[in-house]
Amino acid sequence: MKGVVFNILEDMVTEKGGLMMWQKVIDKAGVEGGYTAVSTYSDDELFSIVGAVVAELDLPAETVISAFGTYMFGQLASRYPVFVDSCDDLFSFLESIDSVIHLEVKKLLTETNLPSISCERVGDDQLVMDYRSPRRLCVLAEGLIYGAAEHYQRPIMIEHPVCMHKGSDHCDIRVQLTHE
Ligand code: ZN
Repeated sequence: MKGVVFNILEDMVTEKGGLMMWQKVIDKAGVEGGYTAVSTYSDDELFSIVGAVVAELDLPAETVISAFGTYMFGQLASRYPVFVDSCDDLFSFLESIDSVIHLEVKKLLTETNLPSISCERVGDDQLVMDYRSPRRLCVLAEGLIYGAAEHYQRPIMIEHPVCMHKGSDHCDIRVQLTHE
């Protein structure tokens, strides 16, 4: 995983809990910290830090990972506006992830270990995203989708009826626009 992901996690933890909290988390995870945005670090290192945050906050892992995804989307969109500049609505953005956005991610961050995502619209208000990745980070994907919905100011609801964590070979993430 790229250092920028670690940098964003550090920003989130520091923003919510202060510098002491980040130091505590780093110590608990048994890692050194000090990540460079474009360098690559092991996924396990990221998971150790996330595990330490989960233990520190005493929250379910899914809650923390999803919140991190939402926070990460906003950060990525402001650090790399090119990711969101090409689309002006939520569904076209989500549909362009596999073909357009991930190419930009590969170019800017040389990250190649990305999930494969294909989308199918069901009527005007629902998009079903077929998520496949050996990392099985579908909860992070959900958080990122919530972040995208905030960015495009479209309230959504997500259902996740088919999941790799429940024995399927992929996840179905159903994104439903809500009209509040
Ligand atoms: Zn899943």
